[in-house]
Amino acid sequence: MRKPILYALCMALVFSLSCSQESRVGAPHGEDSLAGAEAAIPPGWMEAAGEKLEKELVARYGEAQKSRVQRGLKQISDFWRASDGDQQIFEEFVNGNFAGDQASLDTMFGRFERLLEKAFGHMNEIGREFRQQTDLDLGPLEAYDEVFAAYDPSAHLMDDFFNNKLAFVVLLNFPLTTLDDRLTDGNSWTRRQWAETRLAEYFSKRIPAEVNLAISKAAAETDQYISEYNIWMYHLLDEQDRRLFPPKMRLLSHWNLRDELKASYIDSEKGFAKQRIIEKVMERIVNQTIPASVIDNPQLDWNPFTNDVRPAKEHDSDFSPNRSEELEGPEPNTRYRHLLEAFRASKLADPYSPNAPTLIARRFNENRQIPEGRVREMFKQVLASPLVPRIAALIQKRLDRPLEPFDIWYNGFRAKSKYSAAELDSAIARRYPDSEAFEKDMPVLLRGLGFSADRASFVAANIAVEPARGSGHAMGAGMRQAKARLRTRIGEGGMNYKGYNIAIHELGHNAEQTFSLNAIDYYSLNGVPNTAFTEALAFVFQARDLELIGLQSADEESEALHALNTFWSTYEICGVSLVDMRVWHWMYEHPEAAPEDLRDAVLQISKDIWNEFYAPVFGKRDVVLLGIYSHMIHSFLYLPDYPLGHIIAFQLEEHMKKAGKVGPEFERVARQGALSPDLWMKGALGAPVGPEALIAATETALSRVN
Ligand SMILES: [Zn+2]
Repeated sequence: MRKPILYALCMALVFSLSCSQESRVGAPHGEDSLAGAEAAIPPGWMEAAGEKLEKELVARYGEAQKSRVQRGLKQISDFWRASDGDQQIFEEFVNGNFAGDQASLDTMFGRFERLLEKAFGHMNEIGREFRQQTDLDLGPLEAYDEVFAAYDPSAHLMDDFFNNKLAFVVLLNFPLTTLDDRLTDGNSWTRRQWAETRLAEYFSKRIPAEVNLAISKAAAETDQYISEYNIWMYHLLDEQDRRLFPPKMRLLSHWNLRDELKASYIDSEKGFAKQRIIEKVMERIVNQTIPASVIDNPQLDWNPFTNDVRPAKEHDSDFSPNRSEELEGPEPNTRYRHLLEAFRASKLADPYSPNAPTLIARRFNENRQIPEGRVREMFKQVLASPLVPRIAALIQKRLDRPLEPFDIWYNGFRAKSKYSAAELDSAIARRYPDSEAFEKDMPVLLRGLGFSADRASFVAANIAVEPARGSGHAMGAGMRQAKARLRTRIGEGGMNYKGYNIAIHELGHNAEQTFSLNAIDYYSLNGVPNTAFTEALAFVFQARDLELIGLQSADEESEALHALNTFWSTYEICGVSLVDMRVWHWMYEHPEAAPEDLRDAVLQISKDIWNEFYAPVFGKRDVVLLGIYSHMIHSFLYLPDYPLGHIIAFQLEEHMKKAGKVGPEFERVARQGALSPDLWMKGALGAPVGPEALIAATETALSRVN
């Protein structure tokens, strides 16, 4: 189903939450975990019953209803199990719930729209209240607060709706569509037809609780594996046996390792040596030659070039990993064992998702709603762009050395800030001493973005500002009678610049959530096509944060640098994403593979993609760095969302720049709701989703920056 839960998911912050439970996979294999799950096979009498009912219903409602009757019967028979009732119950159900004329269909549609909004909205409210203590800055956490926070009141909602047959009422009367239908026929659908499609989509899967449980368990296990995969940097030795990193530095793979590599560009003395050592560590993680004993262990020194391990000569921490036995030799392909578990758990849901029967299909056709082939072509458009060698030459010139493979993470295209951190912090703290001050100022900020006084008050009236325990997030209202929440971090001395920057990003989410819920024609169409769109709209606000408080905003130079930086990151993550995609296909083609087979496949795929799109620029072949992302292990084909996010954000930003005033245009595009991504983008700016805007801006930028 399309997930009605409403956290705005800042991709950079909490990527893993965006995945619906079903697709957030990873699992124990074997049949045992499925002992209680009923097979997805319709009972034997179904066919005969269907033929009989079709004749009766067509006789009652006329030939004009024939195709609806056939479709409805097919749709419910795909989900009906023996435990739902025998043939007599089935026939009574169909006879009693088929809406055979427009008036009864309208009544049914209206009722489901209203009541599902109540159900999802109040579930959202309960969930939000139960998380109040953990999400907000409200004092100490008690043990039971964590239990409240972990409780999901909607966990059994879909099961209940199938058990009491409300789901079957929808499936009997409204169309389940494939992505293909939505992409071809969807162009000529009315808003109401789109809303009916989305209503049916809530019930497009009937995944048994046992399967979801297996998936959650595997997801938790892969999370655990990744979350403990730290490298103690003080204990890394370079080729001359030197320590390059400070004591106590503990970096999580891959995020912190990559960020340290990026940060090292400004270290003119040891930066290059640090980058080389991090690159070597990454390589050993991907190919699993990393000694198992050095993972998260400050008691050992490790030279990743020679792979020598010895007791630490210098101590910076008493931490020792909690292991039941001494580990010897390389990590035993644990990375790939977890990935296989993820795959096998995902696969358990396949039989229960007839319209998208693989995780690959669910990710692309349901979550992203852009066919995999088209996504791949977009990525290749970036990867094979003639701009790549030109930017590479520019980077080489700026670094004054030949490029190394790790320069896929070059981050030197950054404008210098016109203001010092202290200047920004004090300007913001004066303006926002507490969250009330920010809440009061929202209409002013929104008018600053070009919203009319009227629309600014409308949006502000639908948002409550609250002090976050963490760094901040936005949460949609879920139903029109509730308010969206803007959670922001405010310290003792008032808000600082970082908190403000995040708050403006979240305000963008909240504005989108408000327009796409409170100002929309059909509840089932609330929201945006996928996470990349809500992020893109939030970035439109965020990019204007300085100008909103009267400080000078971006100039031509910084915009050009921004384009180059975005292009280079997109180039990097497109390759990483292609690896992720190809690996999932490989697993589906080799379901019985052993972890070492998968390791070899990932290495080969990483090299193949490197050799095709990177080797010509970097002059080195067979590099495996593209396989280092931790998402690949624990986020189940989520990576392609990142390049799509860059591409979509850039399209929208360029469009907003042309429009001049953000406000009215923001409202217009947000009110389109959850159409298909291409249709939404065509409605917004006249072209489908694609990297052309990014490529054009990068081309212009190249002539400005040297
Ligand atoms: Zn966000």
